[in-house]
Order: sequence, then C-alpha cells, then structure tokens
Amino acid sequence: MPSTLDLIPLDSWLPAAATSPLVIAGPCSAESEEQVMETAAALAAIPQVKVFRSGIWKPRTRPGAFEGVGIKGLKWLQKAKEQTGLPVTVEVANPQHVQEALDHGIDILWIGARTVVNPFSVQEIGEAIGGRDIPVMVKNPLNPDLNTWMGAIERLNQSGLKRLVAIHRGFSFFNRTPYRNAPMWEIPIELMRRCPGLPVLADPSHICGSRDLIQATVQKALDLEMHGVMIETHINPARALTDRNQQVTPEQLKEILSKLILRRKTGSIEFANKLEELRSEIDKLDEELIDILARRMKVVEEIGAYKKANRITILQLKRWSQLTKDRIEAGVRLGLSREFILKLLESVHEEGIQRQIDVMNRDDA
Ligand code: PEP
Ligand code: MN
Repeated sequence: MPSTLDLIPLDSWLPAAATSPLVIAGPCSAESEEQVMETAAALAAIPQVKVFRSGIWKPRTRPGAFEGVGIKGLKWLQKAKEQTGLPVTVEVANPQHVQEALDHGIDILWIGARTVVNPFSVQEIGEAIGGRDIPVMVKNPLNPDLNTWMGAIERLNQSGLKRLVAIHRGFSFFNRTPYRNAPMWEIPIELMRRCPGLPVLADPSHICGSRDLIQATVQKALDLEMHGVMIETHINPARALTDRNQQVTPEQLKEILSKLILRRKTGSIEFANKLEELRSEIDKLDEELIDILARRMKVVEEIGAYKKANRITILQLKRWSQLTKDRIEAGVRLGLSREFILKLLESVHEEGIQRQIDVMNRDDA
C-alpha cells in the first residue's frame, strides 16, 4: 500500500544535500574528545561530507562490550560542530536520549536498527521529540520487514515529524554472505516506490562489515538512485572500540568518494528516444512472456484434469528432474545463467503444482 507521508523536502532543510549525493561520515562511536575532534576536522576538509555522525549510546549485541561514552560525548559533538560548522547527528534509543540530544543542540537524530523493530520505542521517541521538528533518520529494522520500517516512518510522521530520512543498513541474516548484513536491495527499492519524496540513504559500513566492500556498495546505492550514504570513518580504525573492520580513515573516505561515478538520471533527446525504443521492445517481449506463461498454465491444468481422471499423483519427480536438466542446458546455450533458469523453473513449477492441486480438489459434480 503506498504511503502518504507529509514531508518537508530534504534540500529545503539541508541545503547542502541539494548537490547530491549527501555524505554523512564520522566514527561508529565517540571514544575520546581528541578522536572526535580530529576525525571531525579531517572530515570537514572533504567537501562532499555534509554531516558529522557519531554514536554515544551504543546498542551492543552482547553485554560487556563498549557501550558508548554517554552524555559527555554530546559536549564533544557540540564542540566539533562549533569548530567545523558541520551539523551533527547521534543515535537515540529512548526519550532520555532524545532530551539530552535536544538539550545539547544536536541537529539530526537517528533511530537504530534494534530500536526500529519496536513500535512502542518508536512511538515514545516520536512523542519525546514532541512538536520540535528536528530531522530524524530511521534505519531499517534488523529483520527484512518493509512494513515495520514504513510503520516507524509513518508513526514519526504522525507525531508531527516532517523531516524524515530512511537509512538502509542491511538485514540480519542467518546464512553467511560476503556482507555483515544482507543488503536485499529490493526492500529499500520498494520503500522508495511506496514513499515517493522520502529520501533514502545507504549505510554501506553496516551492510558490508568490512571496508574492502564499501566502494562497490556506495556505487551500487547511488546507481539505484539513493540520495546518499552514511559511512563510518575513524581517525585510526585499527584501534576503534567498535566496528573496527568496517571503518575507514578520512583519507580512505576521500578516495572512495573521488572514485565514484555519478550517473545522471536522464539524458539527451537522442538518449531518451533510443531508451524509449528499447523499452517498448521490452514491453512487447514481456507481453509475450506473460501470454506464454498463461498458456503454459492452461496446459498444466489440462494435465491435472487428466491425472485426476486416471487417479495419478501430481508430482512426477523423474519428469521434473529431466525437464529441469534439459531446460537449464537449453538456457545456458542461449547465454542465461543456470541459477536464473533454475529459479524461474522452480517458480513456474510451484505455480503449476498449485494449479493442479486446485484441479484435484475441485468438486466436479
Ligand atoms: C551505528 O550506526 O553505529 C549503528 C549501531 O547502526 P545500526 O543501528 O544500523 O546497527
Ligand atoms: Mn557501527
């Protein structure tokens, strides 16, 4: 269901974001005054960096790890803001955090992945902000659930917050992938489709978990028309107290940003005409594809009726294995990948079985 959010456009409350992409950078955690000040000064010297981030209350998965410096970190952030002119942002997880952050002139708040999963917490945070229209960035929840993410954004919007931003930080996933958190790009893409006007940033640091994957992930986020990125940056990542493997130095951040290819969303008239031509070809092919799938399902139903009349089971494993093998070979010969054909066949097969079950269960009397 599309969402009707009442938002103030990003570039009217953060003019620096008008020249996209918006880059937010800073350490995972504030650790000492020197670390905050040095990192902020180095980041302020990179023109693309527009906002300074730092966590001071750290939600840790296991107890006993560094849980952040707390309120004294807010003073360091205030000082970093004074000295660099960069707006500052921190994570808040409860109404006390909100109060402290507001009292210390923090410019933007963000709600972390562990807090967004809980509608009670999101509601309390929205109410604690109570009418003061401070910008809030909402990370995706840990679990891949678009409705919870959208629900949190809607809840804050209903509490009167109109300067909202979503941050895609990947999703907890049981299977090991190269990523710390599976990106599942289709989820933020669907969020952008359902909430036009909602700026969506990517957090490649928490998606990747290791710095060598960050460059490609930032590029991908921008190629998917996300509005910017939040990248954890530490003056000395090897000695960081949290998220050591994924933080980059300001120098490395500068290099990542300088290597980005910024593609345009639209092109010249000739480009638009050619694109239109190719798109109408795709439209025709898709039409044929859908027609063929519908015809295939009709035949599948006929087979179902025939099996029913002869009291034969639906799933014929031998036939299915042979068919899969043949189709994959045919697909590979035409330049399609095995994985793609297999996924496609499995989906078509699943639908076919359901059709036959329906035929079997139909009361023919
Ligand atoms: C963070 O940004 O430092 C953080 C804790 O992020 P997340 O909530 O995405 O895990
Ligand atoms: Mn972190």
